Amino acid sequence: MLYENFETNAIRTQAEQTDFREHAVPLYLTSSFTFEDAEQGRALFADEIAGNIYTRFSNPNNTELIEKLCYLEGTEDGIATASGMAAMFVSIAAFLQSGDHIVASRSVFGSTHQILTMILPKWGISHTYVDIATPEKWESAIQANTKMIFVETPSNPALDIIDLAWLGKLAKKHKVILNVDNCFATPYLQNPAKYGADIVTHSATKFIDGQGRTIGGAILGSKELIKQVRFFARHTGPSMSPFNAWVLSKSLETLAVRMERHCENALKLATYLETLESVGKVKYPFLASHPQYELAKKQMKHGGGVVTFELRGGIEQGRKFLNALKMCSLTANLGDSRTTVTHSASTTHSKLKEEERQAVGITAGLVRVSVGLEYIDDIIADISQAIQASL
Ligand SMILES: *Cc1c(COP(=O)(O)O)cnc(C)c1O
Repeated sequence: MLYENFETNAIRTQAEQTDFREHAVPLYLTSSFTFEDAEQGRALFADEIAGNIYTRFSNPNNTELIEKLCYLEGTEDGIATASGMAAMFVSIAAFLQSGDHIVASRSVFGSTHQILTMILPKWGISHTYVDIATPEKWESAIQANTKMIFVETPSNPALDIIDLAWLGKLAKKHKVILNVDNCFATPYLQNPAKYGADIVTHSATKFIDGQGRTIGGAILGSKELIKQVRFFARHTGPSMSPFNAWVLSKSLETLAVRMERHCENALKLATYLETLESVGKVKYPFLASHPQYELAKKQMKHGGGVVTFELRGGIEQGRKFLNALKMCSLTANLGDSRTTVTHSASTTHSKLKEEERQAVGITAGLVRVSVGLEYIDDIIADISQAIQASL
């Protein structure tokens, strides 16, 4: 930690100033870096000295972003990846080999589900899904060949919360890597490494970017584990573009203030929706009605920026509701300053089978709202008129 406080680290972690004495960090759009002489080139490749060689391996913008994320998450090292999914895939593929097994929470992002069920089996890596509601089943799901536990908390879009302190102990007891996708919480609301997560993964596309401009991801952890990840990434090439790293590092400067408002708006929207007779179940980690409310309060600073609710009229009412929105954006992204509304069953989780969706609570009438930074009364007014129009 450079400073005591999150906000200061998010703003004051910067790449070294150049001779131009620029205030904002420059964008290092360069594929490679030159060697002073033949000997320096040799020494760099031999890892005898530290330094940039080639942007697929490292670049000052990417290094700055990772240094900052490490301060914010409380980890030693990391790498930035081209997307959140590159982070998920690399954080598994770098450690596991044919014959290995993963225990995963059933409630994971749609593409993570595809990696586990359709892609990793091609290399003989199997998995067992466990439900968050049945913690007693986690330990029995761990086999002799289990190498990793993979979870999302809060999960997308079910907003399930898993006890990180408990899971951290379980992973340690069985000597397996605990990999936590911390995308929904962001490092501002929750630091899984403090509870024993070995690897923390991010889709930086969401709240870290915060304005829906870039695609990016990150893998963070101990020096020892990240060494393996770096070897894998250096030779397979999922690196983040320096331009995106520059944008995302700037974005982190405002993460704390943005998350404060996202969470304040989300709680107000969730509280309002719960008063409506016409709406089914409303889910938000910091609503007392959330099944893991106490746990959410324990491990998260606030409830996050995402609220879900259920339209009782299912897919038909869902369609009417989406088409009646006037301000909120219909899009699959989340974590934007603009409020975005998604119908998960027909978009982000459409590749799942119906029974798989049901098992993680993605019903036909489920609406996911990523509550933006517009004035809250305007967000509530738009959603409220669209619900009225859908009845
Ligand atoms: C969006 C998302 C991802 C994938 O990230 P991309 O940047 O879109 O590749 C992974 N996990 C969660 C929880 C997400 O919401």
